[in-house]
Formats: sequence, structure tokens, C-alpha cells
Amino acid sequence: MTQKLLNLTSTEYEHSFDKTALEALRIVPGFDTVMNFVLNWTTIRWHIIGLCGSNFHVTNESCPELYGLVKNVAESLDIDRLPEIYTIWSYGVNAYTTGYKDNTIMVVHTGAVDLMTNPELSFVIGHEAGHIKSGHVLYHVMVDFFSQIISGSGLMKSLSVPLQLALFYWYRMSEFTADRAGLLACQDLNAALSAIMKMAGIPKRYFSTADPKVFAKQAEEFMSKYGGTIDSVIRNISILDDSHPWTVMRAYELIKWVEKGEYDRLLEKHKGKLCPICNNAIAQDATRCPICGNQIFK
Ligand SMILES: [Zn+2]
Ligand SMILES: [Zn+2]
Repeated sequence: MTQKLLNLTSTEYEHSFDKTALEALRIVPGFDTVMNFVLNWTTIRWHIIGLCGSNFHVTNESCPELYGLVKNVAESLDIDRLPEIYTIWSYGVNAYTTGYKDNTIMVVHTGAVDLMTNPELSFVIGHEAGHIKSGHVLYHVMVDFFSQIISGSGLMKSLSVPLQLALFYWYRMSEFTADRAGLLACQDLNAALSAIMKMAGIPKRYFSTADPKVFAKQAEEFMSKYGGTIDSVIRNISILDDSHPWTVMRAYELIKWVEKGEYDRLLEKHKGKLCPICNNAIAQDATRCPICGNQIFK
């Protein structure tokens, strides 16, 4: 059972590259124009209608186990409102989040559900929940918008190139923040790394012998071979092909964050305790239970 992290805020685990890249992105000429266009973009609504009309809606009735897992992840990350959840028939070990205004939808590939253990799946779902918690979803829709509309049609080409570069660069950086949310949700670094390993393409027949430590070594080697800083690696190659999930670098950054002690610090800071009367999680320093009003003695 994972711990609920009461009053956790996304800024506490936001990756510094994500923050800087988003600040830079917001001042690129054309950002507001495209964002407003996306907000009013009827195609997104059609996309959502198509998505909801074609895939399996996960609810407490239709699929209680998976629904419960998502609920547990949301509780761990102190997220009140659950997104709508759908599964899509695809054997990629993957999930994504999309949406329009308040209508946030998380889509989990069947491959992620079938090929992962529950802690690994909690990492993947926690990663998506992290995107929601950080308010990344709108910008992800902008990334889709660029991939599908602008690059194909030449529309708004003059403003799109710098904006597309900034947007794709930020998108990579936002993955580091979301991975930290994933780890805070599953609370198991080995599960997080083995989830990333499965995304990276380890064949199913070797799942049982896969060793996260060996993958961590691959990440170290990659960085010493191609490195400089992770920032410069991504800056140089992120625009060439946006389909790479950057698994090796993501593993490297997540391990570094844990080694710095940040993960343990947050866990310690936000772990609640249980009210002896109603059994709800309450803050470590609470003197009264906000649910049942029971006075808490230290
Ligand atoms: Zn992501
Ligand atoms: Zn209580």
C-alpha cells in the first residue's frame, strides 16, 4: 500500500529544466495565438468524441481493479478529481492524457495493463496524473496540434518553427517532472525503472530476468558517451524525431533525483497519518481530523 502524500504540490517536484523551458516557451512569438486557437479548436472536441466512442471506458462498475488503481494513484499524489479513463487496444507500453478545458481524459494502452505489474502500472498512471497535476495537458494538445496540423499543411509556418522547437523541447523536459510524479505514486524505484525498461523495448520473454540496475548502468553509459548535459543532448536532437520516448535519459534523471535525496525528503514531508476514529489520512502535524472532527493527541 502506498502512502498518501497530503498537500503535495507539483512545484515541489517540478524539474528545473521543465520550469525554465515552459517560461521560455510562453514568450515565443505566436504562443498565445496558437494556444487560443487550440482552446477553440473544434477538432479536439471531435477527437475526444471519437476517443470516447471507440474505446473502453474504465469505471468503478466496468473495471473496478483498474479504476481502483487510478484512484489510489490520485490519492497518493493528492489529486481530488479523477480524469475520465479509457483503455485503447494497442500493445505499446504507454498511456497519454488529452483533454479540452476541464474535460481531462487519460488513455491507457492495453499493453501497459497486460504487460506490467501493478506497481509498474502505478508508475505509468502516476506519470500521466503528474501531467494533469502540473497543468501540462493543454500544451500536450498543442504538441499534437503541431504534429498533425501545422507541419502537414504549411499553415502559419513562419511562426511555427521557433514555437515548435520550444514546444517539443519543453515536452521532453515535462517528462522528467511527470516521471517524478510517477515515482511518488508507485513509491518503488525498481518498479519505476522496470516500467521504463519495458517502454524501452525489453522483450516479454526476458521480463522475469530484467534487472533495473543494469538499465541504470545503460543510462550512465549513455550520458558519458553522448552527454555533456542532458539539456544539451535534448536540445540537439529533440526536434529530429518526436517519437522517441527518451527512456534512457528519463531513467538517468529519475535515479539522479532519488540519489540527491529529494524523493525521500518529499515522502517524509507529506506522508500522513491515519485518524484512529475514521481511518482517513490526515496531515502529520494535524491536531484535529478534518473528516470526522476527532481531536488528535500527539
Ligand atoms: Zn509524459
Ligand atoms: Zn477522523
